[in-house]
Amino acid sequence: MTTDVPLPAHTWPVLEEGWVWLCGAGPGDPGLLTLHAVNALRQADVVIYDALVQEDILSWAPQAEHIYAGKRGGKPSAKQRDISLRLVDLARAGKRVLRLKGGDPFVFGRGGEEAQTLVQHGVPIRIIPGISAGIGGLAYAGIPVTHRDVNQSVTFVTGHDQSGNTPGSLDWTSISKGSQVIVIYMGMKHIAQIAQQLMDAGRSIHEPVAVVTTATTDAQQVLETTLGTIVEDIAQAGLEPPAIICVGQSVLMRQVLDWQGMADGTPARNLDPLGRGRPAESA
Ligand code: SAH
Repeated sequence: MTTDVPLPAHTWPVLEEGWVWLCGAGPGDPGLLTLHAVNALRQADVVIYDALVQEDILSWAPQAEHIYAGKRGGKPSAKQRDISLRLVDLARAGKRVLRLKGGDPFVFGRGGEEAQTLVQHGVPIRIIPGISAGIGGLAYAGIPVTHRDVNQSVTFVTGHDQSGNTPGSLDWTSISKGSQVIVIYMGMKHIAQIAQQLMDAGRSIHEPVAVVTTATTDAQQVLETTLGTIVEDIAQAGLEPPAIICVGQSVLMRQVLDWQGMADGTPARNLDPLGRGRPAESA
């Protein structure tokens, strides 16, 4: 896309000087940006972006200064507080500031904290949601995050907290019992412990699990495994973060819904993976 293609007719908001727009960039594929995000990219003086934001997306803001504020678990990185205060400084300097974050800014992205700091410093903000990896990334793998035959609820959890440990505050027994489908962000580092806790809480060692890395990008990889074998399978496949880990029967739906595989000529493996024996949409 070139920057001179007009946006569809609509009253698009103006990014004023001294404002910060916190915007989701989606999980990777630039096509998953919202039109509000494109509108913002075209107006920004400064784009402050995270590690998981694709470079292609930045090229849609050629007029802007691009500042990397990447934070990847365990690696040296800009401190959260420094990033928030940098946003304040840029806004006070009269810049039109676009804070671009992977996925949705309010889903495990600390967007709420950044937004709060901005408001506390009197900086006007706008929030632009994005497609979160735990929904859009799974869709690209052919896994519906809810499916009527499988789950009436879904739980999104983070695999580690600010200190890098598995979140002690999480009650894995309740999560395991309360939610048929569990979607884990940032789960790779502690997957052995997480899988064990879920099995201790009663989930089967045969429970289907999918690991989707760099979802929606050209480098996307999908591993189908089970709770009992996930650790060795991840190691064997050499998978690295970022990854979304989905635990639950909905993973089986990939056997019929792997649309990317089908587009590449691999037929569906099983037209009725849940064994319902009836048309998918019967009441
Ligand atoms: N705000 C983001 C999540 C930020 S936390 C969102 O809504 O998606 C970072 C974690 O998100 C990663 O560790 C990984 O678990 C997940 N993630 C983000 N982008 C991803 C991608 N393209 N593929 C797989 N996982 C991704």
